[in-house]
Amino acid sequence: MTIFTSVFLALLVTTVLVRLWLGRRHIAHMQSHRQQVPAAFAASISLEAHQKAADYSTAKTRLVMIEGVVQAILLYVLTLGGVLQWLDASWLDLLPDSTLLRGALVIVSAFAISSLVDIPLDYYKAFVVDERFGFNKMTRKMFFSDLVKHTLVGLVMGAPLLFAALWLMQGAGTWWWLYLWVLWSAFNLLMLAVYPTFIAPLFNKFQPLTDESLKARIESLLAKCGFKSQGLFVMDGSSRSSHGNAYFTGFGASKRVVFFDTLLERLDADEIEAVLAHELGHFRHHHVIKRIAMLFGISFAGLALLGWLVQQSWFFSSLGVATPSNHMALLLFLLVSPVFTFLLRPLLSRYARQNEFEADAYAATHASAHHLIVALVKLYRDNASTLTPDPLHSAFYDSHPPASIRIAKLETA
Ligand SMILES: [Zn+2]
Repeated sequence: MTIFTSVFLALLVTTVLVRLWLGRRHIAHMQSHRQQVPAAFAASISLEAHQKAADYSTAKTRLVMIEGVVQAILLYVLTLGGVLQWLDASWLDLLPDSTLLRGALVIVSAFAISSLVDIPLDYYKAFVVDERFGFNKMTRKMFFSDLVKHTLVGLVMGAPLLFAALWLMQGAGTWWWLYLWVLWSAFNLLMLAVYPTFIAPLFNKFQPLTDESLKARIESLLAKCGFKSQGLFVMDGSSRSSHGNAYFTGFGASKRVVFFDTLLERLDADEIEAVLAHELGHFRHHHVIKRIAMLFGISFAGLALLGWLVQQSWFFSSLGVATPSNHMALLLFLLVSPVFTFLLRPLLSRYARQNEFEADAYAATHASAHHLIVALVKLYRDNASTLTPDPLHSAFYDSHPPASIRIAKLETA
């Protein structure tokens, strides 16, 4: 066994153990606080709702734990188990003369195998877990038509990019990775621009907001915050799930404000305004731009690393692939890099939570902290989000601060 194989296996096992350990802690913490609503929420959340949140979060956490184990086994089987090597050899028998197409097909078939594991888990989440707690609004027909649509959109968008990547690796010389980085960055910006107008409508219906008095309030908030948008929309989030939300999509001129219909049903105008002010805070603090810049920085470093790895024969042999090739380098890198970055997760989560505090502070100055608190409590209750997460689990994974900390901070704002 090479050193790199040992490091890979050690990190793979560590990842699984950390995920299981955090999951168990989280479940134990929620169950031990199940009998009593935390004092700060006692007036607004019933014991029944609190217990539902504990049980729903427990069921979801169990699923994540199972998913972690299954994905690790799959990764092992694909790499050291020899499945990737077998796939590569099988396509070589079928298409000996066309390197680019063969490379693309090897990568697509490896991802197809991975999705065979993910699809049953997604299905179970929607039709068993969410169903049991009354959140699932999807029919089986919708689930499968979404799956087909996602696959087609992924192929239409991804295939040209994949071919371009393999073509650059093959013929663009030493700096291929730099050209690919430019292409990848441009592709991401293009996706941000076209997603709200062309892709999201494939999955949901978007209607202009018609409630005139709400519209007037929202427009005056937007004007007060110096914000321009290409319209206010209501999305039929309720067709798939009864979880409520609001968001901004796009950037530049294609920016739009989208409210889930479920959010508008549950919150009054003051609360909607406060939630929107929070979202505006994310824009005002350039959180989206910063996230994009970070993504570009990470992909630059990743591609530079791949530019070097593709020339190292140990990279292939240590991961169960006998014949080095460009497409195998790309595939191995995509599959294996999450194992090497998993332990950095808490840093990213921490950064995301800091952004949430900044957006909350913005909402407290431009709308009302009180109404944001009321809205958040309603959303925690209606989404059955736990009020008592395990602190370590939350620090590791959560992009949003725990309810009690977030609300305590808003109360002093
Ligand atoms: Zn936020």
